[in-house]
Amino acid sequence: MKNHYDVLIVGGGPGGALAAKTVAENGLSVCIVEKRPAIGVPVRCAEGIGEDLLHEFLEVDPKWISAKMESAKIVSPDGSEIKLTPKMAGSEVGYVLDRKVFDRDLVRQAANAGAEVYVKARVSDAIIQDGIVKGARIEYMGDTADVTAEVVIAADGVESKFARWCGIDTTVPMREIETCAQYIMTDIDIDPHETVFYVGNNISPEGYAWIFPKGDRMANVGIGISGKMSGDGHRARDYLDKFVETTFPKGKKIELILGGVSTCRPLKCTVADGLIIIGDAARVSDPITGGGIYNAMYTGRLAGEVASECIKKKNCSRAALMKYDTMWRNSKMGRALERNYHLKELFITLDDKKLNAILNSVKSINMAKFNTMTLISELIKHNPKAMLIKELAALKKLID
Ligand SMILES: Cc1cc2nc3c(=O)[nH]c(=O)nc-3n(C[C@H](O)[C@H](O)[C@H](O)COP(=O)(O)OP(=O)(O)OC[C@H]3O[C@@H](n4cnc5c(N)ncnc54)[C@H](O)[C@@H]3O)c2cc1C
Repeated sequence: MKNHYDVLIVGGGPGGALAAKTVAENGLSVCIVEKRPAIGVPVRCAEGIGEDLLHEFLEVDPKWISAKMESAKIVSPDGSEIKLTPKMAGSEVGYVLDRKVFDRDLVRQAANAGAEVYVKARVSDAIIQDGIVKGARIEYMGDTADVTAEVVIAADGVESKFARWCGIDTTVPMREIETCAQYIMTDIDIDPHETVFYVGNNISPEGYAWIFPKGDRMANVGIGISGKMSGDGHRARDYLDKFVETTFPKGKKIELILGGVSTCRPLKCTVADGLIIIGDAARVSDPITGGGIYNAMYTGRLAGEVASECIKKKNCSRAALMKYDTMWRNSKMGRALERNYHLKELFITLDDKKLNAILNSVKSINMAKFNTMTLISELIKHNPKAMLIKELAALKKLID
């Protein structure tokens, strides 16, 4: 490991990998430091990503894909089902990845482009001089090294500490942390090409349960609940055990993962002098679905581009790096985050009766013509106006 790079990247997830690849392709020196002993493991993800979203960045390699989805289904609290095509279902279907392979391959691509990669290299502090982020302290091979860089990219995921060490408020309120538990289950009866989402406050309060197939008779089966609903005897894993007991009583669990996703708004500012924050560390995962692979790659690539440009112009001040913050906020992804934050805030107020009413109304919509306006008109047509009055007003505001 050298003691200086143009760009130092903390974290070897999809965000860090895309940032590193972009910087290396710009001909600059870049190093990824990853605290785990191997890239991509353990997986803390349901591994779903939209087809178009993945193709936006990369030539898709078939070995990354566990299963390709053709549809999605939402099951409402009363058990009725709404079937959606991949186009309708949005970004969470398309592919179910094998992230052990995918994450490693993204880092391999960055390395092939010229990035240095160190695993079992834990960043333990930020180096700050005169208020400017200058690098990171790294625990590696029993030694501690101070490594400096023109720009540090914090890609250290949902548990991110680096930005906090740089004085940025990264706190996520408990109610906006979705605590998740997931089994990889096998020997279960599923449609191998359909993702299934279950909503309802009994199943997963202020969250949802999912079945993401990973091939024949095998799937990621998980649940996310609001952190504020979690407590002794009613944690995400308790809800998950109850769910699998009824849904797949004979299924076998071959892996358990526990993890968290943030459903809050993104950080107020994702740059500082010498610093860019990306992916889950910037809190850019989707507030409704918790999906963040695409957003991490999107912000990672953009951060790599802006950092390279600023380094070449010899100006890595907050003002110069601000281009990154402005660009992602104004992007389709940034606008979707803001809209979905409001939708999430609306969603969590719904009791099961209202969830049933909304989902049953959606059932009668011609999916080929689905849009927010048709949704609202169906809701008005099928429900006593008084029941959903607040929700309709909120939905209208979102599309105005
Ligand atoms: C249960 C669950 C299900 C999910 N399902 C989906 C899904 O289906 N689709 C989807 O799009 N998203 C999903 N997500 C979210 C998705 O996993 C993340 O949004 C995505 O991995 C974010 O990428 P990232 O690069 O920002 O961070 P990460 O992938 O988390 O990578 C961060 C890396 O930084 C490393 N790191 C942390 N601290 C340090 C340090 N101090 N020093 C060195 N390295 C460090 C970590 O070890 C990690 O490897 C899910 C998340 C969970 C928890």
